[in-house]
Amino acid sequence: MAVLVTGGAGYIGSHMAWALLDAGEEVVVLDRLSTGFRWAVPPAARFYLGDVGNMDLLAQVFAENRIDAVMHFAGSIVVPQSVAHPLEYYDNNTSKTRLLAEATIAAGIKHFVFSSTAAVYGDQPDDAPVLESAPLQPKNPYGQSKLMAEIMLRDAASAHDFRFVALRYFNVAGADPQGRTGLSTVGATHLIKIAVEAALAQRSGVDIFGTDYPTPDGTGIRDYIHVSDLVEAHLRALSYLRRGGEALIANCGYGRGYSVLEVLQTVMRVSGESFDVRYGPRRPGDAASVVANATLARRLLDWTPRHDDLEVIVQTALAWERHLMERKIGDLRELRQRLATAAF
Ligand code: UDP
Repeated sequence: MAVLVTGGAGYIGSHMAWALLDAGEEVVVLDRLSTGFRWAVPPAARFYLGDVGNMDLLAQVFAENRIDAVMHFAGSIVVPQSVAHPLEYYDNNTSKTRLLAEATIAAGIKHFVFSSTAAVYGDQPDDAPVLESAPLQPKNPYGQSKLMAEIMLRDAASAHDFRFVALRYFNVAGADPQGRTGLSTVGATHLIKIAVEAALAQRSGVDIFGTDYPTPDGTGIRDYIHVSDLVEAHLRALSYLRRGGEALIANCGYGRGYSVLEVLQTVMRVSGESFDVRYGPRRPGDAASVVANATLARRLLDWTPRHDDLEVIVQTALAWERHLMERKIGDLRELRQRLATAAF
């Protein structure tokens, strides 16, 4: 049986595709390549170019492959963009998840793993690591769009022969330790990506969004989780569903938070480079502190993180960024050669 990975040309989806293949699974990727890259899809995966909201294409993908589980990564993920373009987020993250769930159920496929987010929690009354049972009060359309998708999946699982695991990701960072894939999105806005770009002189420095949060150093606190540990949690979720596990929503994080300043210091230390740090105002939609209590995933999914170390996260992110730079230089060289030999 095969696993359908939507968004498999993107950051987390491509790590998932590699991890599934490493685990001996057959992999089918569906991606419209709006932010992902065809080269990020492992050669052994079967690739379909298209949108997860295209019902005809979904029917074709399900008819042409023996798929027993869907892992749904395709979606939009930038908080400030969601504040500026909420309806796009509700379309891409909520409506299209509804369509995908409908097509999945219609095809008789029972297992669904969904990329959810810690953004469903918003600001919590205290700084304690957040449990799945905490009040759900997203501060931005991104979090709302994912929460609505969770609710739909829950109701669909009650009504149909269909079970799902929604994993609420905290801050995913780092890259495949084997260097096969990493965060390659052009114009990515995530802190560790921005900081490693600054360390490698790819940008002029880093702006800190807010220094007046109620945290020890005034900057925002997040629970950064290595992407390889995250995809491992998905593999565990897949086995859980295949052995009959009930619908489950679980946090994926390490249970420890780092401030923006601590992250920047770690990037400087690990890279041996310093860069400009500019102190600025808060970014709209941001919460002060978001840290996971992930005991549920550890217990029910038997998930044990193996890269729980900010330095390792930063090291792998740096290695991938260097690889991207070499790639860019290679592309430029090739372009120059083509231009030199082209007949005008
Ligand atoms: N952040 C920052 N400067 C940046 C990007 C992010 O200060 O250039 C902060 C942001 O305000 C938050 C943390 O870093 O406190 C993580 O933000 P990111 O965008 O990486 O992930 P999010 O938590 O928004 O999903």
